[in-house]
Amino acid sequence: MYNLLDEGVREFIISIDSILYDIYSINRAISQSIFSNLMRNLDNLSEYINTEDLFISLNVVLTNSNYKWENISNILIFAMERNISQVKFQPVFDDGYLYQRAPQLLLTNKNLRQLKIIRRKIEALHLPSDFTNSIGFWSDLIKFLSGIKLNPLKCNVSENAVLLHKGVLKFCFWCQHINYGKINNNLTKSKVQTIRRKFDEDLSKCEVLPQCFCLQPIDHEWNLRKS
Ligand code: SF4
Repeated sequence: MYNLLDEGVREFIISIDSILYDIYSINRAISQSIFSNLMRNLDNLSEYINTEDLFISLNVVLTNSNYKWENISNILIFAMERNISQVKFQPVFDDGYLYQRAPQLLLTNKNLRQLKIIRRKIEALHLPSDFTNSIGFWSDLIKFLSGIKLNPLKCNVSENAVLLHKGVLKFCFWCQHINYGKINNNLTKSKVQTIRRKFDEDLSKCEVLPQCFCLQPIDHEWNLRKS
C-alpha cells in the first residue's frame, strides 16, 4: 500500500461486501488472513486520506447474504469513521468474476422487504450525495426486483466509461449495438462524438439488467428519460 502511495496512486476502489469475514466470505472465496490484511490495509490507508488528498471508495456488491440493514449500516459507519470518500452499492450479477456461487447469491423479489427498510433508513440519514448511492438507486433496485423494466435511455456510460474487451473499445461489456472499434483504430474527436451520438440514439436496443448498475455514477437513477 505504501509503495502505491510512493508511486503517486491517489485513487483506490476496494471491494468490501461486509466488514465481517463470516458474511464477506459467503460472497467471495478468500481466506480469513487475506481478509484481515485487506481490512488492515484499509485502516492504514485511511490514515493518509486527508494528508495525501486520497480518494478511497468502497465497492459493495449486494447479494442475498449481505443485504440486511445491519450489514449496510456497519459498512457506512465504518466508512464515515475513517473519512472514506465513497461507498458505492451495486447488485450482484453473474459474470463469473464474483464467485462460482453468484447464481445462488442473486437478489430476488424475496429480498424486497429488507431493501425497502434499507431505503427508508438511508433516507433518514441524509447522507451527502457524493458519499453513497442516491435514494433513487434503492428505489430503482426495488422496482427492478419487483419486475418493472428500467429505462436504458438514462444510461450514463458514454459519459463516464470506456472499456477494453478482447481488443475492442466498448461503452460497456454488455452493449451489443455499437462500440468504438478495435483499439488500434484511428479515432478522431469528431468520430468519437459521432459514435457517442449514435450510441445514445440507439440506447433503447439495450435492456437494463443487474450488471448495468455497476458502471453508472453514484447518483444514477434509471427512471428518468435522458434529457
Ligand atoms: S447494457 Fe446496460 S450499461 Fe450497457 S449500455 Fe446498455 S443500458 Fe448501459
